[in-house]
Amino acid sequence: MGKLHLEVVTPEKVMVSQDVEIVVAPGSLGEFGILEGHVPFLSGIVPGELRYSSGGQTERFVVTTGFAEVSDNRVSVLVDAAEKAAEIDVERARKAMERAKERLARDRSAGDIDFLRAEAALKRAIVRIRVAEKRG
Ligand code: ATP
Repeated sequence: MGKLHLEVVTPEKVMVSQDVEIVVAPGSLGEFGILEGHVPFLSGIVPGELRYSSGGQTERFVVTTGFAEVSDNRVSVLVDAAEKAAEIDVERARKAMERAKERLARDRSAGDIDFLRAEAALKRAIVRIRVAEKRG
């Protein structure tokens, strides 16, 4: 077992709380990897894939928006939503993607709050579909 501890927390529940060897997460400045002994670090999290390895097994999740903090061999990830790759409802994500695309096509006044919301919803849906497609 590694000495790095990972916590992935949403407003609903603690999705992950366990020792891991490596964490790779979608940071606001790009994907980053954390191993044991990493220096203290803070990053925004954007919709994407978060994965970790533990005992030779890799687990993959979708995370949406939040932040990550690394300190004293603890990685804390606080996000609006997270789902295990295997638990993603692809049909739901496809419908969310279609709704978002329709809204974006209807109202092209970029910068308006509904436009920004639709853009964010589209990103979440695309990431869910992409990560779900990787599960064999
Ligand atoms: P939708 O419009 O389908 O609700 P959304 O992007 O608005 O999608 P979120 O606000 O990101 O949804 O998430 C709300 C809750 O639903 C969270 O608990 C999230 O984990 C879950 N969730 C959203 N979409 C999916 C999906 N396709 N498969 C499984 N869980 C999902």
